[in-house]
Amino acid sequence: MSMLHDIYRDILAFVFHDTCVICGAHVERGVHRVCMKCRYNLPRTLFAFRPDNPVKEYFDNHFESVNCASLFYLKADNKWKRALYRSKYGQEWFIARQLGIMLGGELLDSGLYSDVDIVVPVPLHWRKLLQRGYNQSNYIADGVAEALGAKVCRNALYRRINNPPQAGQMIGERWDNVDEIFAVRRPEKLHGKHVLIVDDVLTTGATLCSCARAILQAAPSCRISIATAAVAGKLARRSR
Ligand SMILES: [Zn+2]
Repeated sequence: MSMLHDIYRDILAFVFHDTCVICGAHVERGVHRVCMKCRYNLPRTLFAFRPDNPVKEYFDNHFESVNCASLFYLKADNKWKRALYRSKYGQEWFIARQLGIMLGGELLDSGLYSDVDIVVPVPLHWRKLLQRGYNQSNYIADGVAEALGAKVCRNALYRRINNPPQAGQMIGERWDNVDEIFAVRRPEKLHGKHVLIVDDVLTTGATLCSCARAILQAAPSCRISIATAAVAGKLARRSR
């Protein structure tokens, strides 16, 4: 029954623009596709408002960043976790865009991200992109860039190696795997810019570090910030 209910809700959410993508409740047509109640209940980190938050401290161990933030804590039994999954594998790209709008709104309110020039989504390998048909991070980046009044550069980075799924591997192996996975296309477009790298979930941070290093190597005059919709794993537990 509940599975049928979920399918029914998903179809409604997909077809009608006036249902909440999280709970299926009615929402007024407008910018948001998540109802007030779900937005209110989002387990926010509020890191965007703190220059010295745990995500920033974490990345500072690996490269020099300007600002770093994640919008919410990813909990195991959370509707938002299912929403992220649907945005990635369920063809529901509009959820990613909604997350981007919410993340971008918070970055804008904080005032710490007002000088971001370019928003760069973490790219998928072309093979994975063909399989899925889209990259959810592109849609998050669109929402963030719209809120900040910045440009999106979807092609700034590309993935040279289609690295295998990292679940179940040791942390050390993950770091080895992601080194030099990414490369920069046309670095002249990034020179001297404040670049915000955007992804859906921050878990080990290895992928995002690899992106940042690739950009800093190709365009050393860049300043790099990082923003993700969710923070998960050890970093989320350590942060609370
Ligand atoms: Zn809702």
